[in-house]
Amino acid sequence: MKTLTFVACVAAVVASAILPAFDVIVAGGGPAGIGAGYAAAARGAKTLVLEKSGRLGGMGVSALVSPFSFCTVSPIAKDIAKRIGFEHSVDFHLADVRAYDLLREAGADVMLHADVLGPVMEGSRVTGVRVQCAEGERTFRAKVVIDATGNGVVAAAAGVPYEEGRSGDGLVQPMSIMFTVGGFDPARRFRCYSEEDARSKRCLVDGRKWEDIVQDEIKAGRLPPEVGVIRLYPGREKGLNVVNATQVNGLFGSRSADLTKAEIAARKQAAQIVDVLRRHLPGYENACIAEMPAVVGVRETRRFEGVDRLTTEDVLSGRTREDAIARRCSFVIDIHNPAGAGQADGHDKAVTGGARRVKPYDIPYGALVPKKVDGLLFCGRCLSASHEALASCRVMGNAMATGVGAGAAAAQAVKEGIDVRAVDARKLNLFK
Ligand SMILES: Cc1cc2nc3c(=O)[nH]c(=O)nc-3n(C[C@H](O)[C@H](O)[C@H](O)COP(=O)(O)OP(=O)(O)OC[C@H]3O[C@@H](n4cnc5c(N)ncnc54)[C@H](O)[C@@H]3O)c2cc1C
Repeated sequence: MKTLTFVACVAAVVASAILPAFDVIVAGGGPAGIGAGYAAAARGAKTLVLEKSGRLGGMGVSALVSPFSFCTVSPIAKDIAKRIGFEHSVDFHLADVRAYDLLREAGADVMLHADVLGPVMEGSRVTGVRVQCAEGERTFRAKVVIDATGNGVVAAAAGVPYEEGRSGDGLVQPMSIMFTVGGFDPARRFRCYSEEDARSKRCLVDGRKWEDIVQDEIKAGRLPPEVGVIRLYPGREKGLNVVNATQVNGLFGSRSADLTKAEIAARKQAAQIVDVLRRHLPGYENACIAEMPAVVGVRETRRFEGVDRLTTEDVLSGRTREDAIARRCSFVIDIHNPAGAGQADGHDKAVTGGARRVKPYDIPYGALVPKKVDGLLFCGRCLSASHEALASCRVMGNAMATGVGAGAAAAQAVKEGIDVRAVDARKLNLFK
């Protein structure tokens, strides 16, 4: 009798842990995940978006990455961005709430504080995900899983081969804490958008170049050499600047021990940077940190092997694709120096119109489809691309566009009862 009761209890626990199946599960609720969840649900798929933090929006919201770069043709992503407050700069106070409402309106379920641990596999097919929820571990089944976690948590655990870092030394782009400063005179708000700005006449402080002032602070040991350039963007509010300056090299955003070091080192740099602003910028004598992000900003981790790949040559030559899911992508190859300060070699040339500026190129659907694993797509900053190509296509608007492509393809696969790799991307109607 006791044994029977025990068996019944175990069966009840197992039944409650394995929940009804979804058509599409999206792991991660950043720009790519929002795009994927919206597109899948709006096209009739029973969709669940799982986000490990308490907020949708990814780097834009949780890491205070303010400038929203939309450098592609994707009418659906453009509309999403506008409706949630990601246009031009991110409204990081309320964009997550709007994104939640938008996803719900489209028919998607959304679960926050749901940390996707890995896939459920049947042979080489992903059939669901294991999730650490607040109440314990649960399993969710789906016909298609879209990995929009940025780091490719599902794809990595499913065994899809990946690369990390640039060729040669294997280093990835640095992690950074972006933060906001307030407490300065809004009439004298200082702007410096780039390394090039910092060494130009546009950013003179008492007749001196901003870059020279920062270099003097480094020589005096009051700033670490990796900081190199202190960029100040105008925030959405008149009295705020967004600061993009901290930089931690040689660490990987796919490893907790490295993330820990990056969080602490970059936050210490933020305090040093505010001290420099106070001492040098007129009107900033009482400047202070207004907002610190919830997490350190991660630019680049795993790049997975897809059936197709966005190559450096593709972005430099402006290659077009029949199976495009994002067209005319045009953001420069923006490589923050993995081994030193400021931008990596070639970046300035890109900004000034030299060799590293891309020619408008397409992102192929095949860059979202893993080579060997079925039932799975990836999108956003973990798609199949070279280090240089990712440095162009990773920006938020374009990441969102790849999410829209993944969500639309997943819904199509469900409708037709085929695997995602058999979807004809030309028929997805993404550009009307
Ligand atoms: C410092 C910095 C500056 C940048 N500057 C710009 C800029 O000027 N303009 C621009 O457009 N872009 C910029 N970017 C790039 C841009 O922010 C990212 O490339 C973009 O956000 C990628 O979108 P994503 O959805 O692929 O990933 P992310 O934004 O990283 O979102 C991934 C989401 O998945 C969630 N997640 C992760 N793991 C799990 C899990 N196991 N389970 C559930 N959820 C999970 C995360 O919490 C997050 O919400 C910058 C990035 C950084 C770090």
